Amino acid sequence: MPYDPFAWTASAQRRRADAGLRRTLRPRAARSALLDLAGNDYLGLSRHPRVTAAAARAARTWGAGSGGSRLVTGSTRLHARLEAELAAFCGFEAALVFSSGYTANLAAVTALTAPPGDPGLLVSDAGNHASLIDGCRLSRAATTVTPHNDPEAVRKALRARGTGPALVVSDSVFSVDGEAAPLAALAEVCRAAGAGLLIDDAHGFGVLGDGGRGAPHAAGLAGDPGTVVTVTLSKALGSQGGAVLGPARVIDHLVDTARTFIFDTGLAPAAAGGALAALRLLRREPARAARVRAVAAGLYTRLAAAGLSTARPDAAVVPVRAPSPRAAVRWAADCRAAGVQVGCFRPPSVPDGVSRLRLTARADLPEAELERAVGTVVAHAPAGG
Ligand code: PMP
Repeated sequence: MPYDPFAWTASAQRRRADAGLRRTLRPRAARSALLDLAGNDYLGLSRHPRVTAAAARAARTWGAGSGGSRLVTGSTRLHARLEAELAAFCGFEAALVFSSGYTANLAAVTALTAPPGDPGLLVSDAGNHASLIDGCRLSRAATTVTPHNDPEAVRKALRARGTGPALVVSDSVFSVDGEAAPLAALAEVCRAAGAGLLIDDAHGFGVLGDGGRGAPHAAGLAGDPGTVVTVTLSKALGSQGGAVLGPARVIDHLVDTARTFIFDTGLAPAAAGGALAALRLLRREPARAARVRAVAAGLYTRLAAAGLSTARPDAAVVPVRAPSPRAAVRWAADCRAAGVQVGCFRPPSVPDGVSRLRLTARADLPEAELERAVGTVVAHAPAGG
């Protein structure tokens, strides 16, 4: 027998191919002619000249990489400014920047449970993002997964709380179907049980709330002593990285204990500089947030009017159901061939096993392009889609 310890991956891959679940990496062109409704550049800031200039300036000043972990050589003035301005914008005492939203979520979930001697309790929504699920798995806390968007189930789960801390974890806007979580109701349940609330606002920040201050801000939770928020810098801010926002002593605790903060190389200066410039643009031009919501509503109205199975968006994400994984892949490929790029979600990325196209609204999408995008999606819809 030849030495081939990974032979099993080939048969697993064949099974995925048979089920239409293989994934392909497709490098995009720098200046693509495709109309992009697949990315998360919600505010159209990724290529804004001020943002790219700030990123380039930061790289020239501080280097292409941050050079070390945040606690060694990886912190710059840019990181500190970004943290201060993010916290102030969203209405929280303090913020801590991470190399991604994923590592920010791992940090917040693991560091806010499991004090010495008592692992605590985690209550996690069934529709939560993979990074929150992984955080629960890494934490030593007992985890209860509650039915999607069900504050009453959360209340019941919290009754199992022992003497340790309890943390309720939820996306603010769920990434597949774009629906919002009942944040005010969750906060009330948490307050009554003395539990903390961790909200992943990856899809709400820059889109929801006054001038894009996020879903927690819209729910009246800015500065709430029991609320901690994570955001990504890679969607509305068009850059890369993540952050945790909350009470100053929670942020201090993360600096001391969060493994993905301590053992990870700090966010690249270009990403910090780009995100800071984008945040300042958002502050100066709050209409961008309202515009992305209007574009999402426009996409939904037209898709629904054409008879497609879609859902009214709470933020920028508009889902369209497909009859099968294969039909979804084909549909997305046909749209692409016709010049429109849309997201394609299949198992295991979808909680209920129903494949979808996912269209993401952008604040800089002109009306004519919106019409063209919908026309293309409708024209290539499979039977039963
Ligand atoms: N949370 C949610 C809800 C997300 O959709 C994503 C990105 N797909 C993340 C966290 C991770 O953020 P990042 O891409 O910055 O790692």
